[in-house]
Amino acid sequence: MPRPILATFDLAALTHNLGVARRLAPNAKVLAVIKADAYGHGMLRAAAALAGAEGFAVLRVEEGVALREAGFKQTILPLEGFFSEEELPLLAQHRIATVLHDTHQADLLERVKLPSKVDIFLKLNTGMNRLGFTPEAFPAVLQRLQACPNVGSITLISHFACADESVGIASQLECFQRTTQGLSFPRSLANSATVLRYPQAHAEWVRPGIMLYGASPFTDETAQEIGLRPVMTLTSRVIAVQNLQVGEIAGYGGLFRAERPTRVGTVACGYADGYPRHAPTGTPILVSGKRTRTLGRVSMDMLFADLTEIPEARVGSPVTLWGNGLPVEEVAQAAGTIGYELLCALAQRVPVVEMAGGED
Ligand SMILES: *Cc1c(COP(=O)(O)O)cnc(C)c1O
Repeated sequence: MPRPILATFDLAALTHNLGVARRLAPNAKVLAVIKADAYGHGMLRAAAALAGAEGFAVLRVEEGVALREAGFKQTILPLEGFFSEEELPLLAQHRIATVLHDTHQADLLERVKLPSKVDIFLKLNTGMNRLGFTPEAFPAVLQRLQACPNVGSITLISHFACADESVGIASQLECFQRTTQGLSFPRSLANSATVLRYPQAHAEWVRPGIMLYGASPFTDETAQEIGLRPVMTLTSRVIAVQNLQVGEIAGYGGLFRAERPTRVGTVACGYADGYPRHAPTGTPILVSGKRTRTLGRVSMDMLFADLTEIPEARVGSPVTLWGNGLPVEEVAQAAGTIGYELLCALAQRVPVVEMAGGED
Protein backbone atom coordinates (compact mmCIF):
# COMPACT_ATOMS: atom_id res chain seq x y z
CA MET A 1 0.00 0.00 0.00
CA PRO A 2 1.31 3.50 -0.82
CA ARG A 3 1.65 6.23 1.80
CA PRO A 4 -1.97 6.78 2.77
CA ILE A 5 -2.40 10.54 2.29
CA LEU A 6 -4.97 11.50 -0.36
CA ALA A 7 -6.78 14.60 -1.60
CA THR A 8 -10.28 13.80 -2.82
CA PHE A 9 -11.96 16.34 -5.11
CA ASP A 10 -15.74 16.31 -5.18
CA LEU A 11 -16.37 17.78 -8.62
CA ALA A 12 -20.15 17.71 -8.20
CA ALA A 13 -19.66 20.05 -5.23
CA LEU A 14 -17.88 22.56 -7.51
CA THR A 15 -20.85 22.55 -9.87
CA HIS A 16 -23.23 22.81 -6.89
CA ASN A 17 -21.33 25.81 -5.48
CA LEU A 18 -21.41 27.53 -8.88
CA GLY A 19 -25.18 27.07 -8.72
CA VAL A 20 -25.25 28.79 -5.33
CA ALA A 21 -23.42 31.80 -6.78
CA ARG A 22 -25.77 31.86 -9.74
CA ARG A 23 -28.90 31.80 -7.59
CA LEU A 24 -27.54 34.67 -5.50
CA ALA A 25 -26.64 36.75 -8.56
CA PRO A 26 -29.21 35.60 -11.13
CA ASN A 27 -28.69 38.52 -13.50
CA ALA A 28 -24.91 38.47 -13.54
CA LYS A 29 -22.52 36.48 -15.68
CA VAL A 30 -20.01 34.44 -13.68
CA LEU A 31 -16.28 34.84 -14.09
CA ALA A 32 -15.19 31.80 -12.06
CA VAL A 33 -11.88 32.55 -10.36
CA ILE A 34 -9.46 29.66 -10.99
CA LYS A 35 -6.14 31.38 -10.23
CA ALA A 36 -3.55 29.57 -8.09
CA ASP A 37 -4.31 26.29 -9.85
CA ALA A 38 -7.96 26.76 -8.90
CA TYR A 39 -7.07 27.38 -5.25
CA GLY A 40 -5.12 24.10 -5.22
CA HIS A 41 -7.81 22.03 -6.91
CA GLY A 42 -6.23 21.80 -10.39
CA MET A 43 -7.07 24.44 -12.97
CA LEU A 44 -8.27 22.27 -15.86
CA ARG A 45 -10.11 19.88 -13.54
CA ALA A 46 -11.93 22.80 -11.90
CA ALA A 47 -12.65 24.52 -15.21
CA ALA A 48 -14.30 21.36 -16.53
CA ALA A 49 -16.60 21.17 -13.48
CA LEU A 50 -17.27 24.92 -13.78
CA ALA A 51 -17.89 24.85 -17.54
CA GLY A 52 -21.30 26.45 -16.94
CA ALA A 53 -19.59 29.73 -16.04
CA GLU A 54 -19.46 32.45 -18.71
CA GLY A 55 -15.81 33.13 -18.00
CA PHE A 56 -12.67 32.24 -16.07
CA ALA A 57 -10.36 34.55 -14.14
CA VAL A 58 -6.76 33.33 -14.05
CA LEU A 59 -3.49 34.93 -13.03
CA ARG A 60 -1.15 34.45 -15.96
CA VAL A 61 -1.62 34.69 -19.69
CA GLU A 62 -0.16 31.15 -20.11
CA GLU A 63 -3.03 29.81 -18.02
CA GLY A 64 -5.45 31.42 -20.43
CA VAL A 65 -3.62 29.82 -23.35
CA ALA A 66 -3.81 26.42 -21.61
CA LEU A 67 -7.57 26.87 -21.19
CA ARG A 68 -7.96 27.71 -24.88
CA GLU A 69 -5.82 24.73 -25.86
CA ALA A 70 -8.09 22.53 -23.71
CA GLY A 71 -11.03 23.79 -25.75
CA PHE A 72 -12.69 26.30 -23.38
CA LYS A 73 -14.54 28.99 -25.33
CA GLN A 74 -15.53 31.28 -22.43
CA THR A 75 -14.22 34.73 -21.62
CA ILE A 76 -10.78 34.43 -20.04
CA LEU A 77 -9.32 37.18 -17.86
CA PRO A 78 -5.81 37.30 -16.36
CA LEU A 79 -6.34 39.33 -13.16
CA GLU A 80 -3.06 41.27 -13.28
CA GLY A 81 -3.21 41.67 -17.04
CA PHE A 82 -0.11 41.40 -19.21
CA PHE A 83 3.40 42.14 -18.00
CA SER A 84 5.27 42.70 -21.25
CA GLU A 85 4.81 43.49 -24.90
CA GLU A 86 5.47 39.86 -25.93
CA GLU A 87 2.26 38.74 -24.26
CA LEU A 88 0.01 40.99 -26.33
CA PRO A 89 -0.02 38.88 -29.53
CA LEU A 90 -0.94 35.85 -27.37
CA LEU A 91 -3.93 37.74 -25.99
CA ALA A 92 -5.08 38.68 -29.48
CA GLN A 93 -4.44 35.26 -31.00
CA HIS A 94 -6.26 33.34 -28.25
CA ARG A 95 -9.00 35.92 -27.64
CA ILE A 96 -7.90 36.36 -24.03
CA ALA A 97 -9.08 39.56 -22.36
CA THR A 98 -6.86 41.54 -20.02
CA VAL A 99 -7.06 43.61 -16.89
CA LEU A 100 -5.48 46.99 -17.56
CA HIS A 101 -4.48 48.65 -14.30
CA ASP A 102 -1.49 50.85 -15.05
CA THR A 103 -0.43 53.41 -17.67
CA HIS A 104 2.59 51.37 -18.73
CA GLN A 105 0.15 48.70 -19.98
CA ALA A 106 -1.76 51.35 -21.93
CA ASP A 107 1.54 52.54 -23.44
CA LEU A 108 2.40 49.01 -24.62
CA LEU A 109 -1.07 48.45 -26.03
CA GLU A 110 -0.88 51.66 -28.06
CA ARG A 111 2.56 50.81 -29.39
CA VAL A 112 1.98 47.29 -30.83
CA LYS A 113 0.35 46.17 -34.04
CA LEU A 114 -2.04 43.27 -33.34
CA PRO A 115 -3.93 40.91 -35.66
CA SER A 116 -7.16 41.47 -33.70
CA LYS A 117 -8.55 43.57 -30.88
CA VAL A 118 -8.15 42.74 -27.18
CA ASP A 119 -11.02 43.07 -24.69
CA ILE A 120 -10.13 45.22 -21.70
CA PHE A 121 -11.21 45.08 -18.07
CA LEU A 122 -10.15 48.55 -16.96
CA LYS A 123 -9.34 48.53 -13.28
CA LEU A 124 -10.30 51.31 -10.93
CA ASN A 125 -8.64 51.76 -7.58
CA THR A 126 -11.60 52.65 -5.38
CA GLY A 127 -9.68 52.47 -2.12
CA MET A 128 -7.98 49.10 -1.78
CA ASN A 129 -4.80 50.65 -3.17
CA ARG A 130 -3.48 47.44 -4.68
CA LEU A 131 -4.08 47.79 -8.42
CA GLY A 132 -5.93 50.25 -10.61
CA PHE A 133 -6.32 53.85 -11.72
CA THR A 134 -7.33 56.50 -9.24
CA PRO A 135 -10.62 58.29 -9.92
CA GLU A 136 -8.55 61.28 -11.05
CA ALA A 137 -6.48 59.30 -13.57
CA PHE A 138 -9.40 57.20 -14.83
CA PRO A 139 -11.07 59.53 -17.41
CA ALA A 140 -7.82 60.11 -19.31
CA VAL A 141 -6.95 56.41 -19.63
CA LEU A 142 -10.51 55.57 -20.62
CA GLN A 143 -10.26 58.15 -23.39
CA ARG A 144 -6.94 56.70 -24.55
CA LEU A 145 -8.38 53.18 -24.69
CA GLN A 146 -11.45 54.29 -26.59
CA ALA A 147 -9.17 55.85 -29.19
CA CYS A 148 -6.84 52.84 -29.42
CA PRO A 149 -7.42 50.54 -32.44
CA ASN A 150 -6.18 47.49 -30.50
CA VAL A 151 -8.96 47.76 -27.93
CA GLY A 152 -12.14 45.70 -28.26
CA SER A 153 -14.81 45.83 -25.57
CA ILE A 154 -14.27 47.71 -22.31
CA THR A 155 -15.52 46.48 -18.91
CA LEU A 156 -14.96 48.44 -15.71
CA ILE A 157 -13.59 46.45 -12.80
CA SER A 158 -12.73 47.10 -9.17
CA HIS A 159 -12.02 45.02 -6.07
CA PHE A 160 -13.18 45.44 -2.47
CA ALA A 161 -10.75 45.29 0.44
CA CYS A 162 -13.24 44.59 3.24
CA ALA A 163 -16.25 42.79 1.74
CA ASP A 164 -15.70 39.92 4.19
CA GLU A 165 -15.53 42.20 7.24
CA SER A 166 -17.90 44.46 9.12
CA VAL A 167 -16.42 47.54 7.38
CA GLY A 168 -18.11 46.33 4.18
CA ILE A 169 -18.01 47.89 0.73
CA ALA A 170 -19.99 51.14 1.07
CA SER A 171 -17.25 53.70 0.60
CA GLN A 172 -15.54 51.84 -2.25
CA LEU A 173 -18.87 51.22 -4.00
CA GLU A 174 -19.74 54.88 -3.66
CA CYS A 175 -16.36 55.83 -5.15
CA PHE A 176 -16.93 53.45 -8.06
CA GLN A 177 -20.39 54.84 -8.75
CA ARG A 178 -19.21 58.42 -8.55
CA THR A 179 -16.27 57.77 -10.88
CA THR A 180 -18.27 55.83 -13.50
CA GLN A 181 -21.45 57.93 -13.40
CA GLY A 182 -23.04 58.27 -16.82
CA LEU A 183 -20.91 55.52 -18.38
CA SER A 184 -22.66 52.46 -19.77
CA PHE A 185 -19.84 49.90 -19.82
CA PRO A 186 -20.40 46.50 -18.17
CA ARG A 187 -18.97 46.33 -14.64
CA SER A 188 -17.39 43.70 -12.41
CA LEU A 189 -16.96 44.21 -8.67
CA ALA A 190 -18.00 41.17 -6.66
CA ASN A 191 -15.70 38.57 -5.07
CA SER A 192 -17.33 35.74 -3.07
CA ALA A 193 -18.06 37.86 0.01
CA THR A 194 -19.75 40.48 -2.17
CA VAL A 195 -21.74 37.85 -4.07
CA LEU A 196 -22.96 36.55 -0.71
CA ARG A 197 -23.72 39.81 1.09
CA TYR A 198 -24.02 42.75 -1.29
CA PRO A 199 -26.48 42.27 -4.15
CA GLN A 200 -26.27 46.01 -4.88
CA ALA A 201 -22.72 45.37 -6.16
CA HIS A 202 -23.34 42.27 -8.31
CA ALA A 203 -23.34 44.28 -11.56
CA GLU A 204 -22.86 42.48 -14.90
CA TRP A 205 -20.01 40.11 -13.99
CA VAL A 206 -19.43 38.50 -10.58
CA ARG A 207 -16.01 37.01 -9.68
CA PRO A 208 -16.50 34.29 -7.07
CA GLY A 209 -13.43 32.32 -5.99
CA ILE A 210 -13.34 30.74 -2.55
CA MET A 211 -17.08 30.02 -2.40
CA LEU A 212 -16.81 27.82 -5.51
CA TYR A 213 -14.42 25.58 -3.58
CA GLY A 214 -16.93 25.27 -0.76
CA ALA A 215 -15.24 27.47 1.84
CA SER A 216 -16.63 30.58 3.52
CA PRO A 217 -14.92 33.95 3.11
CA PHE A 218 -16.34 35.01 6.49
CA THR A 219 -15.34 34.29 10.07
CA ASP A 220 -18.93 34.70 11.30
CA GLU A 221 -20.75 32.44 8.83
CA THR A 222 -19.78 28.90 7.87
CA ALA A 223 -19.82 27.40 4.40
CA GLN A 224 -22.52 24.98 5.52
CA GLU A 225 -24.73 27.86 6.68
CA ILE A 226 -24.30 29.42 3.24
CA GLY A 227 -25.23 26.11 1.58
CA LEU A 228 -21.78 25.40 0.12
CA ARG A 229 -20.19 21.97 -0.09
CA PRO A 230 -16.44 21.43 0.38
CA VAL A 231 -14.67 20.32 -2.78
CA MET A 232 -11.28 19.22 -1.37
CA THR A 233 -11.06 16.65 1.41
CA LEU A 234 -7.55 15.83 2.67
CA THR A 235 -7.34 12.45 4.35
CA SER A 236 -4.64 10.14 5.64
CA ARG A 237 -4.24 7.41 8.23
CA VAL A 238 -2.69 6.74 11.61
CA ILE A 239 0.63 4.99 10.94
CA ALA A 240 1.84 4.52 14.53
CA VAL A 241 0.48 4.74 18.07
CA GLN A 242 2.47 5.68 21.19
CA ASN A 243 1.37 5.59 24.82
CA LEU A 244 2.86 8.51 26.70
CA GLN A 245 3.34 8.62 30.46
CA VAL A 246 2.97 11.87 32.35
CA GLY A 247 5.96 14.08 31.55
CA GLU A 248 6.89 12.41 28.25
CA ILE A 249 7.04 14.49 25.11
CA ALA A 250 5.95 14.01 21.48
CA GLY A 251 7.80 15.41 18.50
CA TYR A 252 10.35 18.13 17.73
CA GLY A 253 11.17 20.58 20.44
CA GLY A 254 9.19 18.59 22.98
CA LEU A 255 6.45 21.11 22.37
CA PHE A 256 3.82 18.69 23.62
CA ARG A 257 4.38 17.24 27.08
CA ALA A 258 1.81 14.79 28.50
CA GLU A 259 0.09 16.05 31.65
CA ARG A 260 -1.85 12.79 31.91
CA PRO A 261 -1.37 9.39 30.27
CA THR A 262 -1.91 10.18 26.58
CA ARG A 263 -2.43 7.95 23.58
CA VAL A 264 -0.79 9.62 20.61
CA GLY A 265 -1.38 8.73 16.96
CA THR A 266 1.26 9.55 14.36
CA VAL A 267 -0.48 10.62 11.15
CA ALA A 268 1.06 10.50 7.66
CA CYS A 269 0.70 14.20 6.86
CA GLY A 270 3.16 17.02 7.39
CA TYR A 271 4.03 20.46 6.22
CA ALA A 272 5.58 19.06 3.03
CA ASP A 273 2.06 17.90 2.16
CA GLY A 274 0.72 21.40 2.67
CA TYR A 275 -0.47 21.10 6.26
CA PRO A 276 0.37 24.34 8.12
CA ARG A 277 3.44 23.97 10.32
CA HIS A 278 2.12 26.69 12.58
CA ALA A 279 -0.99 24.70 13.55
CA PRO A 280 -0.64 24.52 17.35
CA THR A 281 -1.65 21.78 19.78
CA GLY A 282 -5.44 21.77 19.76
CA THR A 283 -5.99 22.21 16.03
CA PRO A 284 -9.09 20.15 15.13
CA ILE A 285 -8.62 16.84 13.29
CA LEU A 286 -10.88 13.82 12.72
CA VAL A 287 -9.75 10.28 13.55
CA SER A 288 -12.15 7.41 12.78
CA GLY A 289 -14.75 10.10 12.11
CA LYS A 290 -14.37 11.55 15.63
CA ARG A 291 -13.19 15.03 16.31
CA THR A 292 -10.01 15.34 18.33
CA ARG A 293 -6.96 17.65 18.43
CA THR A 294 -3.45 17.72 17.06
CA LEU A 295 -0.54 17.58 19.49
CA GLY A 296 2.88 19.20 19.40
CA ARG A 297 4.78 20.44 16.40
CA VAL A 298 3.88 19.48 12.83
CA SER A 299 6.91 17.89 11.16
CA MET A 300 7.72 17.63 7.46
CA ASP A 301 5.92 14.33 6.85
CA MET A 302 3.99 13.61 10.03
CA LEU A 303 1.86 15.13 12.74
CA PHE A 304 0.28 13.90 15.96
CA ALA A 305 -3.35 13.36 16.90
CA ASP A 306 -4.65 12.81 20.43
CA LEU A 307 -6.27 9.35 20.51
CA THR A 308 -6.85 9.25 24.28
CA GLU A 309 -10.62 9.62 23.90
CA ILE A 310 -10.79 7.41 20.77
CA PRO A 311 -9.88 3.96 22.11
CA GLU A 312 -10.92 2.21 18.89
CA ALA A 313 -8.31 4.18 16.90
CA ARG A 314 -5.26 2.16 15.90
CA VAL A 315 -2.71 1.90 13.10
CA GLY A 316 -4.66 2.24 9.85
CA SER A 317 -7.50 4.34 11.30
CA PRO A 318 -8.71 6.98 8.84
CA VAL A 319 -7.87 10.63 9.49
CA THR A 320 -9.44 13.75 7.99
CA LEU A 321 -7.20 16.83 7.98
CA TRP A 322 -9.88 19.05 6.40
CA GLY A 323 -12.84 18.91 4.05
CA ASN A 324 -15.91 16.74 4.48
CA GLY A 325 -16.76 16.75 8.21
CA LEU A 326 -14.10 19.32 9.13
CA PRO A 327 -14.24 22.73 7.42
CA VAL A 328 -10.87 23.95 6.17
CA GLU A 329 -11.68 27.39 7.64
CA GLU A 330 -11.70 25.90 11.15
CA VAL A 331 -8.29 24.30 10.73
CA ALA A 332 -7.02 27.53 9.20
CA GLN A 333 -8.34 29.65 12.02
CA ALA A 334 -6.64 27.42 14.60
CA ALA A 335 -3.39 27.84 12.63
CA GLY A 336 -3.71 31.62 12.38
CA THR A 337 -4.44 31.70 8.67
CA ILE A 338 -7.33 31.44 6.20
CA GLY A 339 -8.78 28.50 4.29
CA TYR A 340 -7.57 30.03 1.02
CA GLU A 341 -3.94 29.55 2.06
CA LEU A 342 -4.37 25.92 3.10
CA LEU A 343 -6.19 24.97 -0.11
CA CYS A 344 -3.60 26.72 -2.31
CA ALA A 345 -0.73 25.08 -0.43
CA LEU A 346 -1.74 21.47 -1.12
CA ALA A 347 1.56 19.91 -2.19
CA GLN A 348 2.26 18.29 -5.54
CA ARG A 349 3.26 15.06 -3.84
CA VAL A 350 -0.23 14.46 -2.46
CA PRO A 351 -2.03 11.96 -4.72
CA VAL A 352 -5.40 13.10 -5.98
CA VAL A 353 -8.65 11.27 -6.71
CA GLU A 354 -11.65 12.81 -8.35
CA MET A 355 -15.09 11.97 -7.08
CA ALA A 356 -17.69 12.79 -9.71
CA GLY A 357 -20.75 11.16 -8.24
CA GLY A 358 -21.85 13.48 -5.34
CA GLU A 359 -25.56 14.23 -5.06
CA ASP A 360 -26.86 17.70 -5.88
C1 LIG B 1 -8.93 36.37 -6.00
C2 LIG B 1 -9.81 37.41 -6.54
C3 LIG B 1 -11.21 37.24 -6.56
C4 LIG B 1 -11.88 36.07 -5.88
O1 LIG B 1 -11.92 36.30 -4.49
P1 LIG B 1 -12.64 35.30 -3.48
O2 LIG B 1 -12.54 35.97 -2.17
O3 LIG B 1 -11.86 34.02 -3.54
O4 LIG B 1 -14.02 35.13 -3.97
C5 LIG B 1 -11.97 38.17 -7.23
N1 LIG B 1 -11.40 39.27 -7.79
C6 LIG B 1 -10.07 39.49 -7.75
C7 LIG B 1 -9.50 40.71 -8.37
C8 LIG B 1 -9.23 38.58 -7.10
O5 LIG B 1 -7.92 38.82 -7.03
